[in-house]
Amino acid sequence: TSVLLLLLVVISRLISSVGLTLDLKLWPCIPYPQCLAFDGRMDSFNTHLVASDFGNLDRHLPAAVLHPGSVTDIAKLVKSVYELSPYSGLTVAARGHGHSIHGQAQALNGVVIEMRTLRGIHVDRDNAYVDVRGGELWIDVLHATLREGLAPKSWTDYLYLSVGGTLSNGGISGQAFQHGPQISNVQQLEVVTGKGEILNCSRHQNGDLFQAVLGGLGQFGIITKARIELEPAPQRVRWIRVLYSDFAAFTRDQEYLISLPKNSTFDYVEGFVIVNNEGLLSNWRSSYFSPQNPVKVSSLDTKGRVLYCLEMTKNYNEHDPLHVIDEKVESLLGPLDFIPASVFTTDLSYVEFLDRVHTTELKLRSKGLWEVPHPWLNLFIPKSKIADFDAGVFKDILRNTTSGPILIYPMNRSKWDNKTSAVTPDDEIFYLVGLLRSALPSSAGSDHNLDLLIDQNNQILRFCREQGLGEKQYMPHYTTEADWKHHFGSRWEKFVERKAIYDPNAILAPGQRIFNGRQ
Ligand code: FAD
Repeated sequence: TSVLLLLLVVISRLISSVGLTLDLKLWPCIPYPQCLAFDGRMDSFNTHLVASDFGNLDRHLPAAVLHPGSVTDIAKLVKSVYELSPYSGLTVAARGHGHSIHGQAQALNGVVIEMRTLRGIHVDRDNAYVDVRGGELWIDVLHATLREGLAPKSWTDYLYLSVGGTLSNGGISGQAFQHGPQISNVQQLEVVTGKGEILNCSRHQNGDLFQAVLGGLGQFGIITKARIELEPAPQRVRWIRVLYSDFAAFTRDQEYLISLPKNSTFDYVEGFVIVNNEGLLSNWRSSYFSPQNPVKVSSLDTKGRVLYCLEMTKNYNEHDPLHVIDEKVESLLGPLDFIPASVFTTDLSYVEFLDRVHTTELKLRSKGLWEVPHPWLNLFIPKSKIADFDAGVFKDILRNTTSGPILIYPMNRSKWDNKTSAVTPDDEIFYLVGLLRSALPSSAGSDHNLDLLIDQNNQILRFCREQGLGEKQYMPHYTTEADWKHHFGSRWEKFVERKAIYDPNAILAPGQRIFNGRQ
């Protein structure tokens, strides 16, 4: 019967391609699971719920949404689509939490699989790992593992993202310099390939599939389960921010901190840029500064200058004597070259720290400022070119406004497995620059205007290309094959080869617009 359903979808596509429309809601079969032989259910009514994403820039309505009741459901659907695809053009997109920017988890007229429906987190305390379903959110993984006194080692700044979604990109935050991205902390995966096979894979079993899927932009298979390494969880965090006006000193100190041995440095190193005082007190990454520190911040003479904020944490446990933490932090801050009066510290629980962005999300939601267009641009910039980027982008293209946080922090390439599909620059140290900007509804015609922000993004990308900075987009968005080839560079052939093996009919993740250009 699932083949029958897909035949109906094919007929619908044929009809709509000659200009007629067939409302899927009229199909008697689709809403009733009993006639579809899925353990879960296929829904053709509420397709609008998965038609957009956090970016709020692209909107593609699928023909149906699968809420899987089992991994077999996912395999059955993919196999049927695979078998019909030479005639149907049907596609399938796994949707984690829909936090992409450019429709990457959408499938125009295809089937979206709501991965969140399939739940399951199992912590193995003795072997320090957690087995987790692909649609689980990192916040739930955190709470489940903390109950056993353990936690994953590598995070994203925001935890309401799905495991399958971040593993399809990389998954980075201020721990990545030490532990690598989240994809470097996975022991094994269960994957449904583009042919509908359910395969287990790890470095030692189906190793090529394992490496293809990690950072693979959903192109080679759907992650239905992941085994993630854990470590003993700290209970408390000392969170420190210091300011710089000199970019060279700022990056020198960041690079120094990430070069120190594991136990002799901070546990998390990030940073952000403050253009024209924007972001210091006003943006959503900066709630930290108030209410404890407003006097100090406003007393700094920062007018008109681009400032850089280095952000670090040191983990500890409730019973650790505080003077020991004080001493460790003091000795780490000692060699750094920040503006002397600009040290801001706060202590909080490990959960509060990791879940810090959610607090701001709730505030923005209450003001209607969360579900606005987000023309975000995330770039990896090689260390050797980061000063050029500063001069050309922070101090020139963006000199008047930012419209949201701009993150900047370095990572070590040696912590990335270069056999995975994730793409990084060639330098051993490279920076993430995240331009996390919002187009606010009240600001049409102002600097926050969506067109203006998109135009600035294009200017930045042009600048990088013209100057030969060797940048790579993180969570890339391209629309032409030539751009994708440029993105993957010498790894393009391997990417194409893997696609032919694991998803030969190019049905998976059409929203990435890499192979089928259908969307
Ligand atoms: P979706 O947007 O649902 O999917 C992303 C892609 O992965 C799609 O192509 C989809 O088809 C595919 N996919 C989804 N699930 C699976 C699966 N199970 N198997 C195979 N493919 C799948 N990223 C970071 O690295 N670090 C951060 O600090 C960070 N912070 C963020 C903060 C916010 C507020 C937001 C909105 C995003 C942030 N991200 C960050 C980006 C995030 O990693 C990506 O958006 C990522 O796509 C995860 O989101 P998602 O789970 O909603 O995936």
